[in-house]
Amino acid sequence: MKEFIKNYSLKEVELLFEAIGEKSYRAKQLFNWLYERNVDNFFEMTNFSRDLRYHLDEQYEISPLTLVDRKKSVVDGTEKFLFKTFDGHFIESVFIRNDGTDEGRLTICVSSQAGCPMGCAFCETAKIGFKRNLQTAEILDQINQVRRLTGLKNNNVVFMGMGEPFLNYDNVLKAADIMNYTFGFHISVRKITISTCGMYEGIERFIDEKRPYNLAISLNDTDMVKRAKHMPVEKKYPMEKIIRLLENKFPASRNRVTIEYIMRKDNISEEDAQRLKTMFRYNRIKLNLIPLNKGKHNLEIPTQEEINKFIKRLEIMNIPISIRKSAGSDIDGACGQLSGKHYSSNSN
Ligand code: SF4
Repeated sequence: MKEFIKNYSLKEVELLFEAIGEKSYRAKQLFNWLYERNVDNFFEMTNFSRDLRYHLDEQYEISPLTLVDRKKSVVDGTEKFLFKTFDGHFIESVFIRNDGTDEGRLTICVSSQAGCPMGCAFCETAKIGFKRNLQTAEILDQINQVRRLTGLKNNNVVFMGMGEPFLNYDNVLKAADIMNYTFGFHISVRKITISTCGMYEGIERFIDEKRPYNLAISLNDTDMVKRAKHMPVEKKYPMEKIIRLLENKFPASRNRVTIEYIMRKDNISEEDAQRLKTMFRYNRIKLNLIPLNKGKHNLEIPTQEEINKFIKRLEIMNIPISIRKSAGSDIDGACGQLSGKHYSSNSN
């Protein structure tokens, strides 16, 4: 089987080119074709010699993913894409028009694993179980394909699709670096967010390596017995320990860490607000509230009135909050709804 060229960093392509007697600057040209011009065929790389194009085509593959299905929300224009990997797994990516138009912020939510082993109770991906980590090329190709299919260039990326990114640390961070390269997708570091359910070791490594990307951590409960029930990761890596880690190590110069909080009927009480207040004594975090989406879980969705009451309480307590609009919930493309199923068989 041929190798996927998008698994290689710029440095690695430079070495590959040097090894076959090509000038190393050709690596930047290759990156420009792959990411900026988004071609899916080596023969379109017209500033390369015929020999080089043939060599690349013999040795490497450009696209590891095949589009299987595509669905668009009639409510907010969010689009969900189902891709098949070369070995038959299904993964999903979501394209979000943040203000409902083709201008402004355009986000692609990428998957980092086929399936996921973390078992969060509110998440459809968890039900598939874990298949495997995605390669760097498979992460990047989601952006290539979505850009090609929509004809639009996203300026924001969130690792909030299928999978736990820090269980696939090396491939995820390599993909993020290529997204950020001037010769890659050239997306600002402040527009790339890596979201974890709370993998202590991954967070520590991310901080120690001074990775410049935004960090988001899912909390979802203030009562840690409940959290352990909904998010088994709590048993191994208690949230309290993660907050201590952030207090001790997270640099003050960085963007605040986002704490994601999916609002259910039973986690937005007065006591929850009080416990959040205690947690927010550490002031390098901000709270992102997300209304629970429909799914095959048995969790209760709060009413708008209950949500408003909770938000009011948090505002009075001066907790920095943002509220995430639920994009794509009518196409099962919103938070926690990615199941990697064919849409035709997903309607039952
Ligand atoms: S919420 Fe994220 S970490 Fe939890 S099971 Fe779903 S994909 Fe995995």
